[in-house]
Amino acid sequence: MQRFESKTVVVTGGGGGIGGATCRRFAREGAKVAVYDMNLEAAEKVASGIREEGGQAQAFCCDITDRASVDKAVEATQQSLGSVDVLVNNAGWDVFKPFTRTESAQWDKLIAINLTGALHMHHAVLPGMAARKAGRIVNIASDAARVGSSGEAVYAACKGGLVAFSKTIAREHARHGITVNVVCPGPTDTALFADYKEGAGNPEKLMEAFTRSIPLGRIGQPDDLPGAILYFASDDASFVTGQVLSVSGG
Ligand code: NAD
Repeated sequence: MQRFESKTVVVTGGGGGIGGATCRRFAREGAKVAVYDMNLEAAEKVASGIREEGGQAQAFCCDITDRASVDKAVEATQQSLGSVDVLVNNAGWDVFKPFTRTESAQWDKLIAINLTGALHMHHAVLPGMAARKAGRIVNIASDAARVGSSGEAVYAACKGGLVAFSKTIAREHARHGITVNVVCPGPTDTALFADYKEGAGNPEKLMEAFTRSIPLGRIGQPDDLPGAILYFASDDASFVTGQVLSVSGG
């Protein structure tokens, strides 16, 4: 018996680096995976890769900033894969600039994707989980939420907000058998991180500085994250809620 056999797992931003690695790991452990992304082509690529390996996955076009799009995707998931047992809020976006050079339109977009989007997802799945008295939610924040990060002020504020929100929802829904935990990646080699390096101006120097500052001596790879995410989503973590785990090389 595999850990996630017969479980329906939704991963937002499933077409991206960390999301794609997470979808593949859930599928290898028996889950029916709903790959949500606003980039349907990227989501299809991840889902078809999983099916080619013999796993179960379906891509859904979902813009988490749009409540109607979220409701449509959750409804379609329930119809084709069953009720949502596990939600991984992973979709994210960033702008890399000193705060005084950012504009409020960018803050609005950052907040809409990194914070409001996760709120929409919780609002859409929590009532069903509460009615079934079971559910696992794993939110992907960032080490920027814990220690700050130059050039990412509004992003860090969103991720800090997501941590506080997660701890509160964990308290509100513990009596419904729902756990809510947070994984904070450090610098991880994905498209989002490539944009960060570009924004910083001198990618090689930045990589050297990161590598020196990370005790385990390297930046993360997408496959470094699913172990912690699947732990929080599994029965091994049935008595763990409201917790924050950094996966960042120390
Ligand atoms: P990525 O760019 O590879 O993937 C992000 C995915 O989210 C993309 O597929 C994108 O299409 C999707 N997305 C963006 N906006 C969306 C929306 N409105 N609706 C639905 N999908 C949307 O980035 P990643 O590095 O894999 O990021 C995954 C998560 O990890 C994010 O929450 C990010 O903030 C967090 N994180 C990443 C790093 C890092 O260094 N890569 C560090 C800390 C935290």
